[in-house]
Amino acid sequence: MTSPLITALQQQIAQLDAQDLRRHRRTAATACAPQVEVDGRRLLSFNSNDYLGLAADARLVEALREGASLYGAGSGGSHLISGHSRAHAELEERLAALMAPHLERPRALYFSTGYMANLAVLTALAGPQPREADIFSDALNHASIIDGARLSRAQVTVYPHGDVAALEALLAASTAKTKLVVTDSVFSMDGDLAPLPELLALCERFGAWLVVDDAHGFGVLGEHGRGALEHFGLRSPYLVYMGTLGKAAGVSGAFVAAHETVIEWLVQRARPYIYTTAAAPALAHALLTSIALIAGEEGRARRAHLAALRQQLAGLRVRPGWQRLASETAIQPLVIGGNAEALRAGQALFEQGIWVSAIRAPTVPAGTARLRITLSATHTPQDVDQLKAALQALAGEA
Ligand code: PMP
Repeated sequence: MTSPLITALQQQIAQLDAQDLRRHRRTAATACAPQVEVDGRRLLSFNSNDYLGLAADARLVEALREGASLYGAGSGGSHLISGHSRAHAELEERLAALMAPHLERPRALYFSTGYMANLAVLTALAGPQPREADIFSDALNHASIIDGARLSRAQVTVYPHGDVAALEALLAASTAKTKLVVTDSVFSMDGDLAPLPELLALCERFGAWLVVDDAHGFGVLGEHGRGALEHFGLRSPYLVYMGTLGKAAGVSGAFVAAHETVIEWLVQRARPYIYTTAAAPALAHALLTSIALIAGEEGRARRAHLAALRQQLAGLRVRPGWQRLASETAIQPLVIGGNAEALRAGQALFEQGIWVSAIRAPTVPAGTARLRITLSATHTPQDVDQLKAALQALAGEA
């Protein structure tokens, strides 16, 4: 017997199929790297967020092993009960020191994921009377920001993408006790940068928090990899910074860095921090190595290599009707438009041995389906040549 509830879900899945919106997972048999084995095929991947190429780095793997021998496999509890280990504490100290040039009295808090960190910051800062808080959120912000804003129960207003004048009018009209502006620094599906200096100036003028989600900037932007704040040379007590550690940092998790009082408030009140088992301490231990690599000479060399690869992609000829978005980051999208066409392009690349996923709604606005090409510091110039040749072959078929 099939329940009507199952039938209703089956109908909705069939609708996704009809709109070319059904997602399928491909299964990797190898570590995250340019050369991968996926669904039984050897492929050249431009599909990960491992921007510095650290995810499979032997030193990180060794540090993870060392962390497991020191602290075991699991934390055994939430941070406020028994799961907070020396590895977590050391990582937080290291991250606070790293971000110190950009924050007043900095402290950092490690989270299991960036998704949870965004939920935590938005819900905690909108409290204790969320109905008296206004959240202003960029139209292209990541899903975790959208969800955090919804969960906060504050009044949420979405402002047009990167539109400083529109935001200024909204802030001027707001009578809320707590005002909060939240933005991706590097937009995850476009690769462009938010106008952070202008946003921060507005926040300081109107007494609003500026929550910066630097998931795609931390490790990649700035001379020392301190991300968007370093890139723009920002420092302010109004800043609440979120960086993820599963992308350029190559492991997993995230951190919030801000004035020590903000962090203390998160420890007291942020439910996505409090009511969950602490991530394995071994991950935090491995991240100590990762942070040292990012901030040091090697990080600098990897960022320089990444910039050279990006230059190499410039001037790429794409199929008429497709649009290559200019980006200063490792995210180099090719906007195609229709879902079916984007899927076909992804499949055509797959058949040429190249792995780039088609990104469709609701991850991006409907009608702007795209190939989200991402570069990594472990790609070689030959890898990028191979990608260019494959894309040019597609352009030639038009
Ligand atoms: N913010 C942005 C902009 C992201 O792209 C992502 C991940 N795709 C997240 C937050 C969530 O981070 P995590 O993967 O660590 O949950």
